[in-house]
Amino acid sequence: MSRRELPPVPERLPVPTVDSHTHLDACGATTPEGVRAALDRAEAAGIAAVVTVADDLASARWVAEASGWDDRLHGAVALHPTRTKDFSDEEKAELERLVRAERVVAVGETGLDYYWDYSPPEAQQDAFRWHIDLAKRVGKPLMIHDREAHDDVLAILESEGAPDEVVFHCFSGDADVARRCVDAGYVLSFAGTVTFRNARALQEAARLVPDEQLLIETDAPFLTPHPFRGRPNEPYCAAYTVVGLAELRKQPVEAVADAARRNAERVFRLRSGGGEIV
Ligand SMILES: [Zn+2]
Repeated sequence: MSRRELPPVPERLPVPTVDSHTHLDACGATTPEGVRAALDRAEAAGIAAVVTVADDLASARWVAEASGWDDRLHGAVALHPTRTKDFSDEEKAELERLVRAERVVAVGETGLDYYWDYSPPEAQQDAFRWHIDLAKRVGKPLMIHDREAHDDVLAILESEGAPDEVVFHCFSGDADVARRCVDAGYVLSFAGTVTFRNARALQEAARLVPDEQLLIETDAPFLTPHPFRGRPNEPYCAAYTVVGLAELRKQPVEAVADAARRNAERVFRLRSGGGEIV
């Protein structure tokens, strides 16, 4: 089997859950047919709804439109921290317009990334502050990208005043950072990284998060869960992460899947086209 081949679609989860953070366009699902096929594969594995996330302006335009293509799809829009070097007023105005789209359910992903140096820390911090204010103005949750920047992300959230709902996408901190997030009322979203064999500190963090503050995500096409690490990722692979997280937390699979679904519905206020909760 080639490393580039998608993992098999796993057995359907006993109860439905939500992939809270993916990039369907980067997975190659850019047309209505492609999106529907990816959502069908997700549904077959028990992933009943998906939040697809933009990381630049072109992707934000696509997300605002594509999130209306299928009742199972929702969007999030922001400028990724690595792209904030020359963040213009025109771009801000356009993002603000796109984030108000009906099926765009969050401002994200925004935050700080001190791993890559495409954008200086000051520019990232300014953009992060702007996105925090935007989330408050439009009344939508803030979806955070935090890579090697835990202390600064938490300090800026505190000094600016966090919006009502804050999600740490692909949580990557240790137990201490997780405790600080939990105490602040933030929600921690776990990706395939939590299933990696060498992820001891992250696994310790995942064990202490209360049921009410956890989400599941793929961050596809990246971060494919164990044992398919290195292969392409898609929303249906969130089912592998649910199973891995349940094992780590010594909980039944349905408890983790159900908690992640209820939390996603609450935080992102997810509703299908018919007005029913997913
Ligand atoms: Zn992402």
